[in-house]
Amino acid sequence: MSAVGHTAHTGIVAPFDELVGQDIAARFLSAVITSDKPHHAYAFVGPLGSGKTAAATALAQALLCPNGGADSCESCKRVIRRTHPDFHVVEPLGAAGYLMQQIQELIRDSMLAPIRARRKVYLLTRGDLLADSAANSLLKTLEEPPPGTFFIILARTQSALKDTLLSRCQVLAFRRIPESEALSTISQNTGATTVEARIALAATGGSLLFAEQFWRSQERRDLRVATIEALERLPHADDADLLEAVKNLLVAMKAPLDVVILEQKNQLKLSEDYLGKGALGRLEQQQRRELSNREHQTIGETLEVARSWLRDIMLIKVYEAASPQSVSPRDTPQIINTDFHSNIERIAARVELDNCARALEATQEAQRLIQYNVNPQLALEVMFFAIREELI
Ligand SMILES: [Zn+2]
Repeated sequence: MSAVGHTAHTGIVAPFDELVGQDIAARFLSAVITSDKPHHAYAFVGPLGSGKTAAATALAQALLCPNGGADSCESCKRVIRRTHPDFHVVEPLGAAGYLMQQIQELIRDSMLAPIRARRKVYLLTRGDLLADSAANSLLKTLEEPPPGTFFIILARTQSALKDTLLSRCQVLAFRRIPESEALSTISQNTGATTVEARIALAATGGSLLFAEQFWRSQERRDLRVATIEALERLPHADDADLLEAVKNLLVAMKAPLDVVILEQKNQLKLSEDYLGKGALGRLEQQQRRELSNREHQTIGETLEVARSWLRDIMLIKVYEAASPQSVSPRDTPQIINTDFHSNIERIAARVELDNCARALEATQEAQRLIQYNVNPQLALEVMFFAIREELI
């Protein structure tokens, strides 16, 4: 008989092996999974790009998987793709954070039985955006959730989370993953080159997990190209061209969402055989939420791409100001969108830093408008007019 402590956990520990640069986190999470009675609430705290989301996904995978977290199974794939009906990713829907109504709905939902797995996992992606009232209403559920219900709350810093929330969670701190490490991981996992990995990381705001998903999606990469091409044409666009460009961009934005819609339809069809009416209704409701999250993500990526392109122009300007003598191409600053290099240089030669700064501000404003539920088409039109003003 094997001695206690020598039990093989290989299948169970698997998803955590991939947590780059987070040895402590990986050990902690493996311990969670191998324990008989895992704690029901976790707070993952660390800066953007520290792998919190990847770790939360790995934990959800392991908690929901019928095979203890084997990466290849259908359940794990669904968790990764965010289409598992018992993995609830809750993003703030309000401009300033989570809506009270959202949290109340979450609490009601947590009382219901899981749909597909034996457990349910709720991932709150922005614990720092839980206002006092919303956080307070969540406390009782966090303290004593229905059996088999788990919560993971993410936040950039520990101080951004209410003490009352923290005291109910096991807290795990993440450090920022060095860029070089992040890039080589993305390359390893997706086959992207370092330059491509940097593009993916920029488009997804520095999240390793999302960067990998981005690079695997042809539709999302196409959307990036469409976004930059639309920006490049702005200086020569009249009003009609500009409005047309936004319209085309919205069409390009639909493509990645169509992939999600198709997956959801398949999921619903597969579930019809074994789910009751109530559970199917809940699944549909969850799918609608998921789709709205993905819509936000797609728009967010478009804005990130626009920002990275504008920052590239600024980088070249700053660099030129610092070294007026022309230098060899080898020494040029490391811009992100190298595939659009020549146009970036051309525009940099024409505009001032102030123009770029104001154009960047326009992308932030678009984000604010969309958070306040302004129609994305309108928000993008406003943004494109503002950016054109600066790049002409
Ligand atoms: Zn699995």
